Amino acid sequence: MPVSTTAATAEGLCAFIDDSPSPFHVVRTVARELEAHGFTRLEEAAAWPDESIGRRYVVRGGSLVAWAGTGNAAAPFRVVGAHTDSPNLRVKQHPDLASAGWQLVGLEPYGGAWLNSWLDRELGISGRLTVRDGNSLREQLIRIDEPILRVPQLAIHLSEDRRGVTLDPQRHVNAVWGVGEAPRSFLAFVAESVEVDPAAVLGWELMTHVLAPSGLVGRDGDLVSAPRLDNQGTCYAGLRAFLAAVDDPGAAAPVLAMFDHEEVGSQSDRGAQSDLLPAVLERIVLARGGGRAEYLAALAGSICASGDMAHATHPNYPERHEPAHRIEINGGPVLKVNQNLRYATDATGAGAFALACDQAAVPLQRYVHRADLPCGSTIGPMTAARTGMPTVDVGAPQLAMHSARELMGANDVPAYAAALAAFLTPVE
Ligand code: ZN
Repeated sequence: MPVSTTAATAEGLCAFIDDSPSPFHVVRTVARELEAHGFTRLEEAAAWPDESIGRRYVVRGGSLVAWAGTGNAAAPFRVVGAHTDSPNLRVKQHPDLASAGWQLVGLEPYGGAWLNSWLDRELGISGRLTVRDGNSLREQLIRIDEPILRVPQLAIHLSEDRRGVTLDPQRHVNAVWGVGEAPRSFLAFVAESVEVDPAAVLGWELMTHVLAPSGLVGRDGDLVSAPRLDNQGTCYAGLRAFLAAVDDPGAAAPVLAMFDHEEVGSQSDRGAQSDLLPAVLERIVLARGGGRAEYLAALAGSICASGDMAHATHPNYPERHEPAHRIEINGGPVLKVNQNLRYATDATGAGAFALACDQAAVPLQRYVHRADLPCGSTIGPMTAARTGMPTVDVGAPQLAMHSARELMGANDVPAYAAALAAFLTPVE
């Protein structure tokens, strides 16, 4: 599959990320693009129409699954998986704090946020509210792109040895948003930003985002500096690949599965440990006229690429990397292998992805974590266990994973999308 057919670019990735400060906004950004390509949303609580020729998607909170029929009721699936959430600082239930004449908003880390990177940055607010409307409830998306919050560092002169401070997630990540002793309600501020009565706000998932826009950097402009590359880099590349595969399908039905809550273990109604993907895949088979046996047969022929970002070799810390497995920025997609199955890749999945890279004419890099450092994980092992599909963990290389501001290669964006597109369109 030629690279250009996915229309994936570094500039496109930057726009995608800047449109998507929270998992709920990732889902909205993807849904808009799907609808522009003829997809319609199905509700899980409703009956589903015949899916044999349909372009459909479902949403569960910050998760989304999209698929397109191939006309073949027995077609197996090719799945590209990703996660929509990124580590950040989130708003507590009683956020209004005061200290030393400052007004503070109580925050707590979500996932493995690299806390030092969140200091001294202008932060906006995003997420969703549950709003009472009489005796019913509705969801209200929130996005405030104003510099409302900032978590200030300690001055170097006040540190004990001028070598940096250890950040306590309980005490050191609250944000200032004004001065004065009189308490002000942060939630009322948020509610009023969308003209909602603060008393009607009964629930919320609110988080902070870095306001500086994403962009290309470096002497040659071939690096992408952006928040949330982990894992919106895959959400974007996966979406472009999926749309290319839908327009020019191969011998399997393409599926895009994007999960919330990966950064906190995936165990929720909509995380990768939930029934979301198997439930949707089974309903697709039922809607195209098959039964349980046809569903299990389709799964047996299916395969999943779990896309998440990969660690490029850091120039200032090369010793932290497995020396025989140097991973280069702008060096192409990465196959991730871990003998203790922190990544799901086995020989079958590795072969399928290596073949896809060859078909897409992009180089493939092979990553192994140092055996003496704890390896992160992905949705891959869970998706494999939930569905029984062979699964391959893949990614694009980046530095500064889980920083508020991450760095990847501009040329890796189209290469990654092209490899995923080829994976989604196997040749018979
Ligand atoms: Zn990730």
